[in-house]
Amino acid sequence: MKIAFIGLGHMGGPMARNLLKAGHSLIVFDVVQRNVDALTTVGAAAAASAKLAAVQAELVISMLPSSPHVRSVYLGEEGVLAGVAGGIPLIDSSTIDPHTARDVAAAAGDRGNPMADAPVSGGTGGAESASLTFMVGAEPALFARIRPILAHMGKNIVHCGDSGTGQVAKICNNLLLGISMIGAAEAMNLGASLGIDPKVLAGIINTSSGRCWSTDTYNPYPGVMDNVPAARGYTGGFGTDLMLKDLGLAADAARQAKQPAPMGAMAQQLYQLWSSRGAGGQDFSSIINLLKN
Ligand code: NAD
Repeated sequence: MKIAFIGLGHMGGPMARNLLKAGHSLIVFDVVQRNVDALTTVGAAAAASAKLAAVQAELVISMLPSSPHVRSVYLGEEGVLAGVAGGIPLIDSSTIDPHTARDVAAAAGDRGNPMADAPVSGGTGGAESASLTFMVGAEPALFARIRPILAHMGKNIVHCGDSGTGQVAKICNNLLLGISMIGAAEAMNLGASLGIDPKVLAGIINTSSGRCWSTDTYNPYPGVMDNVPAARGYTGGFGTDLMLKDLGLAADAARQAKQPAPMGAMAQQLYQLWSSRGAGGQDFSSIINLLKN
């Protein structure tokens, strides 16, 4: 299939490469030439705009930083909707607010293009090994149509409901993750400062009711686990600034829904403080260092 792929960064680059490996032909566009070159050297064709990539495509996929980028790439003068043929399906895998996802999908629908929001979890490692989880908001017929393509880039392809619900799933999960990491950090710091071996404490928590992903898979306390960011100075992993972005999306969505989210707001402020101290590029579990006495 001829696929237009727009946004070839940390996630989009390896995702596009996996589509090439699966035998699809790709027309790519990114505002950063270096990212385009990395794909053309492995067999993709380049287009000069999102519009020109979409003109030739049987399917369009985008992986962009945030909501304003998605709006301009789809709705702008040189955007996808200005070029794509009627009936061609569109997939946006960026993490953005559900409101924008629904707006852009409605504009696409008005032009006869069914559109899915399909944000991912699994990070750059998952993008490289084609083991991402896709959370898909789409009409059932569109989901059935795009599922085989997403399966070239991910292992779990989950239909969450209609337009926007993929983004809802993604931001609710990351809201809870952001909060639970701070809880794990607080408990681990307290235990260590009161004299228990952090490894023993983690073992107890992980067989007791405090257990969660942040304690048993991604423990923030150094020396408790191997192969986690805490074991390598909080390098790699999921950046504090990316967590901050997702908590901002959750806060905006909560405001629009008039839904109280006080723990998310507190978590957002703590990551903001940590980022303002220069830790935006460190893995988000480094928040444990903000809470040290
Ligand atoms: P990134 O910044 O590395 O990549 C975004 C790409 O979009 C860049 O190459 C940029 O040049 C390009 N771009 C920006 N504006 C453009 C435009 N107008 N037209 C064409 N290209 C444009 O970001 P990323 O880490 O690849 O993340 C992409 C999305 O995936 C974000 O929404 C992020 O929140 C989400 N996400 C990231 C991770 C992760 O671990 N990095 C994990 C899950 C989800």
